[in-house]
Amino acid sequence: MKRLAILGSTGSIGLSALDVVAACPERFEVVALAAGSNVRVMVEQARRFRPKVIALADEQAADAARRALAGESIEVLSGMAGVERVGGWPEATMVLSAMVGAAGLRPTLAALRAGKDVALANKECLVIAGSLFMAEAVKGGARVIPVDSEHSAIFQVLVNGRTRLDVGPLTTEPEVRLILTASGGPFKGWSRERLAAVTPDQALAHPNWNMGRKITIDSASCMNKGLEVIEAHHLFGVAAERIEVVVHPESIVHSMVAYADGSVLAQLGVPDMRTPIAVALAWPERISAPVPALDLPALGRLTFAGPPDPEAFPCLGLAYAALRAGGVAPAMLNAANEVAVAAFLEHRIGFLDIPRLIQGCLERSHAEGDGGSLEGLLAVDGWSRACAEAWIRRHADGVERN
Ligand code: NDP
Repeated sequence: MKRLAILGSTGSIGLSALDVVAACPERFEVVALAAGSNVRVMVEQARRFRPKVIALADEQAADAARRALAGESIEVLSGMAGVERVGGWPEATMVLSAMVGAAGLRPTLAALRAGKDVALANKECLVIAGSLFMAEAVKGGARVIPVDSEHSAIFQVLVNGRTRLDVGPLTTEPEVRLILTASGGPFKGWSRERLAAVTPDQALAHPNWNMGRKITIDSASCMNKGLEVIEAHHLFGVAAERIEVVVHPESIVHSMVAYADGSVLAQLGVPDMRTPIAVALAWPERISAPVPALDLPALGRLTFAGPPDPEAFPCLGLAYAALRAGGVAPAMLNAANEVAVAAFLEHRIGFLDIPRLIQGCLERSHAEGDGGSLEGLLAVDGWSRACAEAWIRRHADGVERN
């Protein structure tokens, strides 16, 4: 029986995870849940899964949950301090990190410091603070098991047959290459000119995956793939030069590992996050997940193409550049991207402004900042957010200054 704490239980990954848990009640007990402000869904989850504690980051939402759950012997915590306590909840043996964005970093670090195994969906943790994050895992004796489908595929290839997982990056043979697959998103093959008029509704209509709003926009801009390259670098200890992206519109091959002897090993499955979630939650065992079987004859064929056009989708190149630059650059990239995505969803900037804004912020970097400490990285995160907001103001005023 694994005792789970779920950070981000009301989101897309959180809901899918609770589906997996509900299908295997003999394997999992939910002991703690945390989310932002969705009282209705959190209260329903609390009544159904009976955790010992829940936390909502929003104080008013937490008050409303407290009233709704009065007399039910479920402790209700509030604020980010409450969410962090769920991350390090003593009774939990595994923490699913599925909050969105930089907000997930501190609670997930709390889990690692408490020595919990972490099933990691929140890729932003590794983008902002990859080295520090993996070092905390080693120090706490905690294992990081990826949930992102591409990284789950690579993880499954690399650990195939192992029942033990060392803490820290899954360092592999030096000549290995990682091949991340990308669906290409809703705008695959579109020119820059055509992308200029894209609306949030169009960008939110992903052809293969049903996900939260932020990652769906990241997929449309191809920033998601860039964040995944940085995530793969830290999880698997593989240099940027050995991480490639290929477009695979069917999203059936979830990623591949190429070995020096010419072998390429892949993991296949239907595009449903409940598979990689089940892999991470149950590892090193396998459980049955509530997903349809893969029907290859019905699919007929699988297709592959080179990486997305860098002119039309500059975000992938920006992420590679930030990874190569190292230090605080990935944290700056992430913060600028979070601001840009929110502004695009609010119709404050256009789709092509997303990479423009990020590039503008990266160019304004003085390469200062302490990439080796959490405080330093969070300061850079704040600075980059302010820089991004300033870019939007200048842009909205039509006054572009450098
Ligand atoms: P959603 O937007 O659907 O859900 C986000 C979750 O985070 C919600 O539970 C939300 O709570 C919670 N949250 C947001 N801000 C806070 C906060 N300040 N404090 C506490 N909780 C907060 O996102 P997804 O589930 O799509 O994505 C979650 C993470 O998983 C992201 O990092 C994403 O990149 C990654 N991922 C997602 C995939 C997917 O298929 N969705 C695939 C691979 C990775 P509330 O709604 O109550 O405010």
